[in-house]
Amino acid sequence: FFEALEAHDPQSTAIVHHDSKVTYPYASLLRDVARTKEQLLRLTGRDESTIAGERIAFLVENGYDYVVTLLTILASNAIALPLAPSFPVSELRHIINDSGAFLLLSSTKYARQADEVLQDGLEKTPSFHPMDDLKQCSIDDQEIKLIGASDAAGGGMMLYTSGTTARPKGVLLSTATLAAQAQSLLTAWNYTPQDHLLHVLPLHHIHGTVNAILTPLLAGSSIEFLYPFDAHVVWERFAAPFLPTHEHEITNGSSTGTHHNARTPISFFTAVPTIWARLLQTYRTLNLELQTAAKEAISRRHLRLNISGSAALPTPTLDGWTELSGGNVLLERYGMTEVGMALSCGLHDSDRVPGSVGWPLPSVEVRLWEVDEHTGTGGVILQGEEIDPVSGKERQGEIQLRGPTIFREYWRNKAATEKEFTVDGWFKTGDIAVRRMTPGSGQGKSGSWARGPAYFIQGRQSADIIKTGGEKVSALEIEREMLSLPQIHECAVVGLPSESWGQKVVAVVVLSEDWKDSDKPWGVADMRHELKDRLVRYKIPQDLEIVSKIQRNAMGKVNKKQLVAAVFGDVE
Ligand code: ATP
Ligand code: MG
Repeated sequence: FFEALEAHDPQSTAIVHHDSKVTYPYASLLRDVARTKEQLLRLTGRDESTIAGERIAFLVENGYDYVVTLLTILASNAIALPLAPSFPVSELRHIINDSGAFLLLSSTKYARQADEVLQDGLEKTPSFHPMDDLKQCSIDDQEIKLIGASDAAGGGMMLYTSGTTARPKGVLLSTATLAAQAQSLLTAWNYTPQDHLLHVLPLHHIHGTVNAILTPLLAGSSIEFLYPFDAHVVWERFAAPFLPTHEHEITNGSSTGTHHNARTPISFFTAVPTIWARLLQTYRTLNLELQTAAKEAISRRHLRLNISGSAALPTPTLDGWTELSGGNVLLERYGMTEVGMALSCGLHDSDRVPGSVGWPLPSVEVRLWEVDEHTGTGGVILQGEEIDPVSGKERQGEIQLRGPTIFREYWRNKAATEKEFTVDGWFKTGDIAVRRMTPGSGQGKSGSWARGPAYFIQGRQSADIIKTGGEKVSALEIEREMLSLPQIHECAVVGLPSESWGQKVVAVVVLSEDWKDSDKPWGVADMRHELKDRLVRYKIPQDLEIVSKIQRNAMGKVNKKQLVAAVFGDVE
C-alpha cells in the first residue's frame, strides 16, 4: 500500500478541504506521515518493534489530519482505532477499554473530549494532542525513511460493527486484509488519478475508511472532505463547477501531476441510502440556476460513479436519482465491517440490476448456505439450482464468504469468532439472499467478476426474515414495495409473535407530508388494499403502526429490536 502511494506523482492532489479550500499533494501527505511516525515513536518512547500490534485510538475530525493519523498508525505497524466523536463518553471509554489501546490521539478540536474519556479508569492510556505537535519534526526531508508496513508485524485497523443486532464487536483487519479489500475495489470500480471523490461519511466505519479513503489513495485519486453531511452544501458543491459564473481554474502547465481543488467536478460519490434520499428531497428547494448546474454535475458525463450501500436502497430513491440525473443509475453494493465489500453491481449499465447488489467482487468467494428447517442440516445452493424443484419456490440461503478480504478474528472474542466461521473457513454473514438470473444482466461487461446470476439481499436472518404461517418472508422485500406507495415516507417491517401464525408481519410507517394531515386517515385496510397487486397475500402486513419517526444510526440502519421495543413494548 505505501509503495503504491510513493509511486504516485508527488505533485498530484491527495486531499482537499472543502471548508478552507486548502489542497494537499501526495508529497505532503507522505512527508507528514513519515514525520508523525518519528514523533509518535519519540513521544511514546517506543521503537518499531515495541509499537507493532499495539492499539492506538484516535479522535480526529474528517480531513487531512485524520488521514495522516490513520496512515501513521498503519506505517508504524500498530493497529489504528478510529473513534466516532459523536459517541457518548461512556461508549468511547468502553471501546478504549475493550481494545486495550495504549494511547489516545486527538486533534485540538477533540482535546477536551479526549481528556474527559480518559478521566477515570483509563489512566494508563496517555493522551496526545494536538496533531500539529506530532507533525512537527526536526529531521530533514532527505532523512525520511521509506515508511513501509508489513503484515507480519501485526498492524492494521480495528473497527467496531454498527451494533444493529447486538453490542458492537471489535473487528481486526490486518494490513494484508485491508490491502486485499482496497485492491479488490480498485479492480472492480476502476478508481484512477483523474477521480475526484466527495467524502461526506463518518470515519469509524468501513464505508468511509476503506471505500472512500484507502482505496482512492491506493489509486492516486483525490478526496475532498465535506463533513458533516449537509444536503444543501453538497448540492452547491456538485453544482459549483457548472455555474455560469464559474471561472475555470488555470493550472500550472509546467508542473506534473493531476491538480484537483474544491472547484473540480466530482467524479465519484459513495453514500448511504438516507443521504441519497435527502439529496433528492433537497433538490426541489434549490433555485433554478443551481438546479440546472447540479443536474449537469450528476450526469454520467461528470459523475462517473454514484454508489449506494450500508443498507438496502429503496426503489423510489433509485428511480428518483435515475430520473434526475438523466439515467445515471446508482450502483448498489453489499458489504460489512468484517469483510469490506463482498458483492457489487458493475460499472456497465447492463450490470446494474434494480434491487440487486450484483456479483461477488474480485477475490471474494461467495456461497449461499441453505438450512433444512426440519433436519437442521445445511447445504450449498449450487448454480442453476436456485429454484426448489418440489415447491417451485426460490431457495434462500445465508451469504457465506471466504478469501483474502475477510477478517480473521473478532477482537478478544474467541467464542464469537468460532461461532461465525465454519470449520472449513467460511464466514457466516447472518444475511440472507437469493440468486437470480436476470435478463440482460451479468454479461460480464464490467469485467469477468460481474457474471452469472445476481444476488438479492433478503435481510438479516435474525431481524428481517419473518416466519409467518410456515412461509419465510423478507422484511426488505416488503419494505421495498411499501416505499413505492405515495402515502409512505419511511417504513420498517418487523415480525411480531402471533399465536396463529408463529409470527405476523407488521409495518411501522412514517406517512408522507401530504398524508399526515389529510382529512381521510390512512389505515391498515388502505395499506392492504394498495399492496394487493404488489405482494402475495401472506407477505402483506397484517397490522400497521403509524409513527412520527423511525430511528436510524449514522449509516442509515434501523435496529429492529430497539424499534419493536420502542413501538410495541415487551412483546416476547
Ligand atoms: P452488528 O453486526 O453490530 O449488529 P451491523 O451488522 O449493522 O451491526 P455493519 O458491519 O456496519 O454492522 O453492517 C453490515 C450489514 O449492513 C450487513 O450485514 C447487511 O445486513 C447490511 N448491508 C450492507 N449493505 C447492504 C445493502 N446494500 N443492502 C442491504 N443490507 C446491507
Ligand atoms: Mg453485523
